[in-house]
Amino acid sequence: MSAAGTIFSKIIAGEIPCQCVYEDERVFAFLDIAPLSHGHVLVLPKEAKAFLHELSDESAAAIGRALPRICRAVLAATGATSYNVLQNNGSAAHQAVMHVHFHIIPMTNAGGLGIAWKPVHLASDEAVALATKIREALQ
Ligand code: 5GP
Repeated sequence: MSAAGTIFSKIIAGEIPCQCVYEDERVFAFLDIAPLSHGHVLVLPKEAKAFLHELSDESAAAIGRALPRICRAVLAATGATSYNVLQNNGSAAHQAVMHVHFHIIPMTNAGGLGIAWKPVHLASDEAVALATKIREALQ
């Protein structure tokens, strides 16, 4: 899936306005237009890829470097002390804009990310087989 031509590419290019909070060679960050809480920020690679697993190592490293710095700035600016970092991949996982982005969502009395966390059972033999499969896929 291509992320070229999404609204986020247009925001990065300056064709659509935003409240930018951070920019470097590979990363762009701005206020979410429909925030879940005060200080809700989106952090994205300039590389136009839909999903996290498609990112180049260079973009991934740049995002990894920028994210904690922007989190610190959001906490300092809002006074929040708790927050969630959310990154959706695929429409079934609530991704609406097909350009990789990380949400920084402060948890405040007035709002924040609601999570429905429903663990499923994982049998130990199934866990061994699954971990083996993932390790193999990483090689
Ligand atoms: P997703 O569901 O894809 O993870 O989240 C997309 C986010 O992008 C939403 O929180 C939405 O409010 C935000 N968004 C969508 N369009 C715009 C826009 O034009 N400007 C800004 N600043 N945020 C946007």
